[in-house]
Amino acid sequence: MIKLLEKNIADKIAAGEVIERPLSIVKELVENSIDAGASEITVEIRNGGKTFVRVTDNGCGIPRDEAETAFLRHATSKIATLADLTAISSLGFRGEALASIAAVTRTSLITRTPEERTGCRITIHGGEVIENTGVGCPEGTTMIVTDLFYNTPARRQFLKSDSAESGLIIDFVSEMAMAYHDRRFQLINNGRNLFSTPGDGNLKKTIAAVYRRREYEELVEVEYGENGYSVSGCISRPSLTRTNRRDQVFFVNGRIVKSRIMERGVSEGYRERLAEGRQPVVFLFLRTDPETVDVNIHPNKKEVRFHDEKAVIAALKAAVFQTLAAKEAVVEVRDYF
Ligand code: ADP
Ligand code: MG
Repeated sequence: MIKLLEKNIADKIAAGEVIERPLSIVKELVENSIDAGASEITVEIRNGGKTFVRVTDNGCGIPRDEAETAFLRHATSKIATLADLTAISSLGFRGEALASIAAVTRTSLITRTPEERTGCRITIHGGEVIENTGVGCPEGTTMIVTDLFYNTPARRQFLKSDSAESGLIIDFVSEMAMAYHDRRFQLINNGRNLFSTPGDGNLKKTIAAVYRRREYEELVEVEYGENGYSVSGCISRPSLTRTNRRDQVFFVNGRIVKSRIMERGVSEGYRERLAEGRQPVVFLFLRTDPETVDVNIHPNKKEVRFHDEKAVIAALKAAVFQTLAAKEAVVEVRDYF
Protein backbone atom coordinates (compact mmCIF):
# COMPACT_ATOMS: atom_id res chain seq x y z
CA MET A 1 0.00 0.00 0.00
CA ILE A 2 1.37 3.38 -0.95
CA LYS A 3 1.14 6.04 1.76
CA LEU A 4 2.64 9.43 2.34
CA LEU A 5 5.29 9.30 5.07
CA GLU A 6 4.46 11.01 8.34
CA LYS A 7 6.02 14.44 8.47
CA ASN A 8 8.49 13.65 11.22
CA ILE A 9 9.77 10.52 9.43
CA ALA A 10 10.09 12.40 6.14
CA ASP A 11 12.01 15.13 7.98
CA LYS A 12 14.47 12.65 9.46
CA ILE A 13 15.12 11.13 6.05
CA ALA A 14 15.63 14.53 4.45
CA ALA A 15 17.90 15.55 7.34
CA GLY A 16 20.10 12.55 6.66
CA GLU A 17 21.00 13.95 3.29
CA VAL A 18 22.25 17.23 4.73
CA ILE A 19 23.61 16.07 8.10
CA GLU A 20 25.88 13.11 7.74
CA ARG A 21 28.31 13.70 10.59
CA PRO A 22 29.33 16.37 13.14
CA LEU A 23 31.35 18.12 10.46
CA SER A 24 28.14 18.76 8.49
CA ILE A 25 26.69 20.63 11.48
CA VAL A 26 29.80 22.76 11.95
CA LYS A 27 29.97 23.49 8.26
CA GLU A 28 26.36 24.63 8.00
CA LEU A 29 26.57 26.76 11.14
CA VAL A 30 29.86 28.44 10.24
CA GLU A 31 28.57 29.18 6.75
CA ASN A 32 25.46 30.74 8.28
CA SER A 33 27.65 32.90 10.52
CA ILE A 34 29.63 34.09 7.53
CA ASP A 35 26.44 34.80 5.60
CA ALA A 36 25.24 36.77 8.65
CA GLY A 37 28.23 39.10 8.24
CA ALA A 38 29.91 38.03 11.48
CA SER A 39 33.42 39.30 12.11
CA GLU A 40 33.92 36.91 15.04
CA ILE A 41 33.03 33.23 15.00
CA THR A 42 33.71 30.82 17.83
CA VAL A 43 33.36 27.08 17.33
CA GLU A 44 33.38 24.76 20.30
CA ILE A 45 33.08 20.98 20.06
CA ARG A 46 33.14 18.08 22.48
CA ASN A 47 33.56 14.38 21.73
CA GLY A 48 34.26 14.98 18.07
CA GLY A 49 31.11 17.09 17.87
CA LYS A 50 28.89 14.05 18.47
CA THR A 51 27.58 15.27 21.81
CA PHE A 52 28.16 19.01 21.59
CA VAL A 53 28.70 21.70 18.96
CA ARG A 54 28.39 25.39 19.75
CA VAL A 55 28.87 28.12 17.18
CA THR A 56 28.69 31.72 18.36
CA ASP A 57 28.81 34.71 16.06
CA ASN A 58 28.40 38.48 16.23
CA GLY A 59 26.45 38.62 12.99
CA CYS A 60 23.12 40.20 12.13
CA GLY A 61 21.03 37.88 14.34
CA ILE A 62 17.51 36.70 13.57
CA PRO A 63 14.48 38.86 14.42
CA ARG A 64 12.51 37.31 17.24
CA ASP A 65 9.34 36.81 15.23
CA GLU A 66 11.27 34.97 12.49
CA ALA A 67 13.46 32.75 14.63
CA GLU A 68 11.12 29.77 14.70
CA THR A 69 10.53 30.05 10.97
CA ALA A 70 14.26 29.68 10.35
CA PHE A 71 13.90 26.04 11.39
CA LEU A 72 11.29 25.25 8.74
CA ARG A 73 12.47 23.37 5.68
CA HIS A 74 13.03 25.70 2.69
CA ALA A 75 12.93 28.76 4.95
CA THR A 76 15.65 31.17 3.89
CA SER A 77 16.28 34.90 3.88
CA LYS A 78 18.93 34.59 1.19
CA ILE A 79 16.89 34.18 -1.96
CA ALA A 80 13.34 35.18 -2.69
CA THR A 81 12.82 34.82 -6.42
CA LEU A 82 13.83 32.48 -9.20
CA ALA A 83 16.05 35.24 -10.60
CA ASP A 84 18.01 35.32 -7.32
CA LEU A 85 19.03 31.71 -7.96
CA THR A 86 21.29 32.75 -10.80
CA ALA A 87 23.19 35.32 -8.75
CA ILE A 88 23.84 33.68 -5.41
CA SER A 89 26.44 35.45 -3.34
CA SER A 90 25.82 33.67 -0.03
CA LEU A 91 27.19 30.30 1.03
CA GLY A 92 23.74 28.94 1.86
CA PHE A 93 20.42 29.42 0.08
CA ARG A 94 18.49 26.14 0.30
CA GLY A 95 17.00 26.84 3.70
CA GLU A 96 17.51 23.23 4.77
CA ALA A 97 20.34 23.29 7.27
CA LEU A 98 18.59 24.41 10.44
CA ALA A 99 15.58 22.18 9.75
CA SER A 100 17.86 19.20 9.15
CA ILE A 101 20.03 19.83 12.19
CA ALA A 102 17.01 20.29 14.43
CA ALA A 103 15.42 17.03 13.21
CA VAL A 104 18.27 14.79 14.38
CA THR A 105 19.61 16.58 17.50
CA ARG A 106 18.64 18.58 20.56
CA THR A 107 19.27 22.14 19.45
CA SER A 108 19.04 25.59 20.99
CA LEU A 109 19.19 28.87 19.13
CA ILE A 110 19.92 32.08 21.02
CA THR A 111 19.81 35.18 18.90
CA ARG A 112 19.31 38.93 18.86
CA THR A 113 19.37 41.56 16.15
CA PRO A 114 20.92 45.01 16.80
CA GLU A 115 17.45 46.60 16.53
CA GLU A 116 15.87 44.50 19.28
CA ARG A 117 16.46 44.92 22.99
CA THR A 118 15.60 41.35 23.94
CA GLY A 119 16.63 38.32 22.04
CA CYS A 120 15.10 34.87 22.11
CA ARG A 121 15.94 31.29 22.83
CA ILE A 122 14.34 28.46 20.94
CA THR A 123 14.91 24.84 21.88
CA ILE A 124 13.99 22.02 19.56
CA HIS A 125 14.34 18.31 20.23
CA GLY A 126 14.10 16.03 17.22
CA GLY A 127 12.15 18.65 15.27
CA GLU A 128 9.70 19.42 18.12
CA VAL A 129 9.75 22.94 19.52
CA ILE A 130 10.26 22.65 23.29
CA GLU A 131 10.55 26.32 24.17
CA ASN A 132 10.54 29.75 22.59
CA THR A 133 11.16 32.54 25.08
CA GLY A 134 12.59 36.02 25.26
CA VAL A 135 16.07 36.25 26.80
CA GLY A 136 18.73 38.85 27.33
CA CYS A 137 21.71 38.07 25.10
CA PRO A 138 24.41 39.79 23.09
CA GLU A 139 23.86 40.77 19.46
CA GLY A 140 24.40 37.86 17.13
CA THR A 141 23.62 34.20 17.18
CA THR A 142 24.61 31.16 19.19
CA MET A 143 23.61 27.67 18.10
CA ILE A 144 24.07 24.83 20.56
CA VAL A 145 23.62 21.43 18.97
CA THR A 146 23.79 18.36 21.19
CA ASP A 147 23.30 14.60 20.95
CA LEU A 148 23.57 14.08 17.22
CA PHE A 149 21.36 11.21 15.98
CA TYR A 150 19.98 10.57 19.48
CA ASN A 151 16.67 9.70 17.82
CA THR A 152 18.15 7.73 14.92
CA PRO A 153 20.59 5.36 16.65
CA ALA A 154 21.29 3.41 13.46
CA ARG A 155 22.94 6.48 11.95
CA ARG A 156 25.13 6.95 14.99
CA GLN A 157 26.93 3.71 14.19
CA PHE A 158 28.30 5.17 10.99
CA LEU A 159 30.21 7.85 12.83
CA LYS A 160 33.95 7.45 13.24
CA SER A 161 35.93 7.78 16.46
CA ASP A 162 35.81 11.07 18.34
CA SER A 163 39.32 11.95 17.21
CA ALA A 164 38.56 11.16 13.56
CA GLU A 165 35.40 13.29 13.67
CA SER A 166 37.16 16.17 15.45
CA GLY A 167 40.01 15.94 12.94
CA LEU A 168 37.58 16.65 10.09
CA ILE A 169 36.16 19.62 11.97
CA ILE A 170 39.56 21.03 12.88
CA ASP A 171 40.63 20.85 9.23
CA PHE A 172 37.46 22.57 8.11
CA VAL A 173 37.59 25.42 10.64
CA SER A 174 41.30 25.90 9.86
CA GLU A 175 40.52 26.22 6.17
CA MET A 176 37.71 28.69 6.81
CA ALA A 177 39.92 30.76 9.12
CA MET A 178 42.49 31.04 6.34
CA ALA A 179 40.01 31.64 3.54
CA TYR A 180 38.23 34.33 5.60
CA HIS A 181 41.28 35.84 7.29
CA ASP A 182 39.49 39.16 7.69
CA ARG A 183 37.33 37.50 10.36
CA ARG A 184 38.35 36.23 13.76
CA PHE A 185 37.92 32.50 14.31
CA GLN A 186 38.34 30.64 17.54
CA LEU A 187 38.26 26.85 17.84
CA ILE A 188 37.85 25.03 21.14
CA ASN A 189 38.03 21.23 21.38
CA ASN A 190 37.03 19.47 24.63
CA GLY A 191 37.59 22.69 26.56
CA ARG A 192 41.01 23.33 25.07
CA ASN A 193 41.65 26.41 22.92
CA LEU A 194 43.14 25.06 19.66
CA PHE A 195 43.61 28.38 17.95
CA SER A 196 42.28 31.87 17.60
CA THR A 197 43.13 34.02 14.63
CA PRO A 198 43.63 37.79 14.62
CA GLY A 199 40.85 38.45 12.09
CA ASP A 200 42.58 41.58 10.83
CA GLY A 201 43.21 40.39 7.28
CA ASN A 202 46.84 39.46 7.95
CA LEU A 203 47.21 36.10 6.22
CA LYS A 204 50.65 35.24 7.62
CA LYS A 205 49.56 35.83 11.21
CA THR A 206 46.40 33.83 10.53
CA ILE A 207 48.36 30.89 9.16
CA ALA A 208 50.83 31.06 12.03
CA ALA A 209 47.92 31.03 14.50
CA VAL A 210 46.09 28.15 12.82
CA TYR A 211 49.20 25.98 12.55
CA ARG A 212 50.60 27.23 15.84
CA ARG A 213 53.97 27.89 14.22
CA ARG A 214 55.57 31.26 14.86
CA GLU A 215 57.97 30.83 11.95
CA TYR A 216 55.03 31.02 9.52
CA GLU A 217 54.85 34.74 10.25
CA GLU A 218 58.06 34.93 8.21
CA LEU A 219 56.48 33.58 5.02
CA VAL A 220 56.85 35.69 1.90
CA GLU A 221 53.80 37.32 0.35
CA VAL A 222 52.83 36.50 -3.22
CA GLU A 223 50.97 38.90 -5.48
CA TYR A 224 50.75 37.94 -9.12
CA GLY A 225 48.32 38.48 -11.95
CA GLU A 226 48.56 37.69 -15.63
CA ASN A 227 46.57 36.06 -18.44
CA GLY A 228 43.40 35.93 -16.40
CA TYR A 229 45.03 34.18 -13.44
CA SER A 230 45.72 35.93 -10.19
CA VAL A 231 47.74 34.26 -7.46
CA SER A 232 48.04 35.61 -3.93
CA GLY A 233 48.93 34.22 -0.54
CA CYS A 234 52.29 33.37 0.96
CA ILE A 235 55.11 30.91 0.55
CA SER A 236 58.23 29.90 2.44
CA ARG A 237 61.76 30.92 1.61
CA PRO A 238 63.78 27.93 0.36
CA SER A 239 65.34 27.68 3.81
CA LEU A 240 62.01 26.69 5.43
CA THR A 241 60.88 23.33 4.10
CA ARG A 242 59.14 20.15 5.13
CA THR A 243 59.50 16.54 4.10
CA ASN A 244 55.94 16.35 2.76
CA ARG A 245 53.25 18.51 1.20
CA ARG A 246 51.05 18.69 4.29
CA ASP A 247 51.58 22.41 4.67
CA GLN A 248 50.69 23.17 1.08
CA VAL A 249 47.20 24.56 0.92
CA PHE A 250 45.48 25.70 -2.25
CA PHE A 251 42.32 27.68 -2.79
CA VAL A 252 40.62 28.18 -6.13
CA ASN A 253 38.16 31.05 -6.21
CA GLY A 254 37.95 30.92 -2.43
CA ARG A 255 37.39 27.18 -2.10
CA ILE A 256 40.01 24.84 -0.74
CA VAL A 257 41.08 22.19 -3.23
CA LYS A 258 43.55 19.38 -3.70
CA SER A 259 45.41 19.78 -6.95
CA ARG A 260 48.40 17.95 -8.40
CA ILE A 261 48.49 20.58 -11.10
CA MET A 262 48.93 23.42 -8.62
CA GLU A 263 51.51 21.39 -6.68
CA ARG A 264 53.43 20.93 -9.89
CA GLY A 265 53.38 24.63 -10.67
CA VAL A 266 54.78 25.37 -7.22
CA SER A 267 57.54 22.75 -7.54
CA GLU A 268 58.54 24.16 -10.89
CA GLY A 269 58.61 27.66 -9.42
CA TYR A 270 61.09 26.65 -6.71
CA ARG A 271 63.06 24.47 -9.12
CA GLU A 272 66.65 23.93 -8.00
CA ARG A 273 66.24 26.18 -4.97
CA LEU A 274 65.12 23.20 -2.90
CA ALA A 275 67.13 20.20 -1.74
CA GLU A 276 66.07 16.77 -2.96
CA GLY A 277 62.95 15.52 -1.18
CA ARG A 278 62.16 18.85 0.52
CA GLN A 279 58.83 20.60 0.10
CA PRO A 280 58.10 24.29 0.55
CA VAL A 281 55.30 25.60 2.74
CA VAL A 282 52.72 27.38 0.59
CA PHE A 283 49.28 28.87 1.06
CA LEU A 284 48.08 30.07 -2.30
CA PHE A 285 44.84 31.53 -3.53
CA LEU A 286 44.24 31.20 -7.25
CA ARG A 287 41.53 33.34 -8.79
CA THR A 288 40.36 32.85 -12.31
CA ASP A 289 37.27 32.82 -14.48
CA PRO A 290 34.91 30.27 -12.85
CA GLU A 291 34.04 29.07 -16.35
CA THR A 292 37.53 27.59 -16.70
CA VAL A 293 37.41 25.40 -13.58
CA ASP A 294 35.18 22.61 -12.48
CA VAL A 295 35.12 22.16 -8.70
CA ASN A 296 32.20 19.79 -8.64
CA ILE A 297 33.75 16.67 -10.06
CA HIS A 298 34.05 15.18 -6.58
CA PRO A 299 31.27 15.19 -3.98
CA ASN A 300 33.42 16.74 -1.27
CA LYS A 301 34.23 19.51 -3.75
CA LYS A 302 37.91 19.27 -3.00
CA GLU A 303 38.97 17.90 -6.34
CA VAL A 304 39.24 20.44 -9.09
CA ARG A 305 39.63 20.15 -12.83
CA PHE A 306 41.16 22.96 -14.86
CA HIS A 307 40.28 23.32 -18.52
CA ASP A 308 43.76 24.66 -19.27
CA GLU A 309 46.17 22.84 -16.97
CA LYS A 310 49.28 24.21 -18.66
CA ALA A 311 48.17 27.78 -18.03
CA VAL A 312 47.58 27.04 -14.34
CA ILE A 313 51.00 25.44 -13.95
CA ALA A 314 52.57 28.42 -15.72
CA ALA A 315 50.75 30.92 -13.50
CA LEU A 316 51.80 29.24 -10.26
CA LYS A 317 55.32 28.70 -11.48
CA ALA A 318 55.68 32.36 -12.46
CA ALA A 319 54.07 33.60 -9.24
CA VAL A 320 56.44 31.55 -7.09
CA PHE A 321 59.54 32.15 -9.18
CA GLN A 322 59.08 35.92 -9.39
CA THR A 323 58.34 36.20 -5.67
CA LEU A 324 61.48 34.29 -4.69
CA ALA A 325 63.67 36.11 -7.20
CA ALA A 326 62.46 39.50 -5.94
CA LYS A 327 63.11 38.53 -2.30
CA GLU A 328 66.60 37.33 -3.11
CA ALA A 329 67.39 40.53 -4.98
CA VAL A 330 66.38 42.56 -1.93
CA VAL A 331 68.52 40.43 0.36
CA GLU A 332 71.54 40.76 -1.94
CA VAL A 333 71.28 44.53 -2.07
CA ARG A 334 70.93 44.72 1.71
CA ASP A 335 73.95 42.45 2.19
CA TYR A 336 75.98 44.60 -0.18
CA PHE A 337 75.54 47.85 1.74
P1 ADP B 1 20.11 28.94 4.39
O1 ADP B 1 21.45 29.23 4.98
O2 ADP B 1 20.20 28.06 3.19
O3 ADP B 1 19.28 30.17 4.15
P2 ADP B 1 19.55 27.68 6.93
O4 ADP B 1 18.60 26.60 7.32
O5 ADP B 1 21.00 27.42 7.14
O6 ADP B 1 19.26 28.06 5.43
O7 ADP B 1 19.16 29.01 7.72
C1 ADP B 1 17.83 29.51 7.59
C2 ADP B 1 17.80 31.01 7.81
O8 ADP B 1 18.08 31.29 9.19
C3 ADP B 1 18.84 31.80 7.04
O9 ADP B 1 18.39 32.10 5.73
C4 ADP B 1 19.02 33.02 7.89
O10 ADP B 1 18.03 33.98 7.63
C5 ADP B 1 18.80 32.51 9.29
N1 ADP B 1 20.06 32.21 9.99
C6 ADP B 1 20.63 31.01 10.20
N2 ADP B 1 21.78 31.10 10.89
C7 ADP B 1 21.96 32.43 11.15
C8 ADP B 1 22.98 33.18 11.82
N3 ADP B 1 24.06 32.59 12.39
N4 ADP B 1 22.82 34.53 11.89
C9 ADP B 1 21.76 35.12 11.33
N5 ADP B 1 20.77 34.47 10.67
C10 ADP B 1 20.87 33.13 10.57
MG1 MG C 1 22.68 27.86 5.84
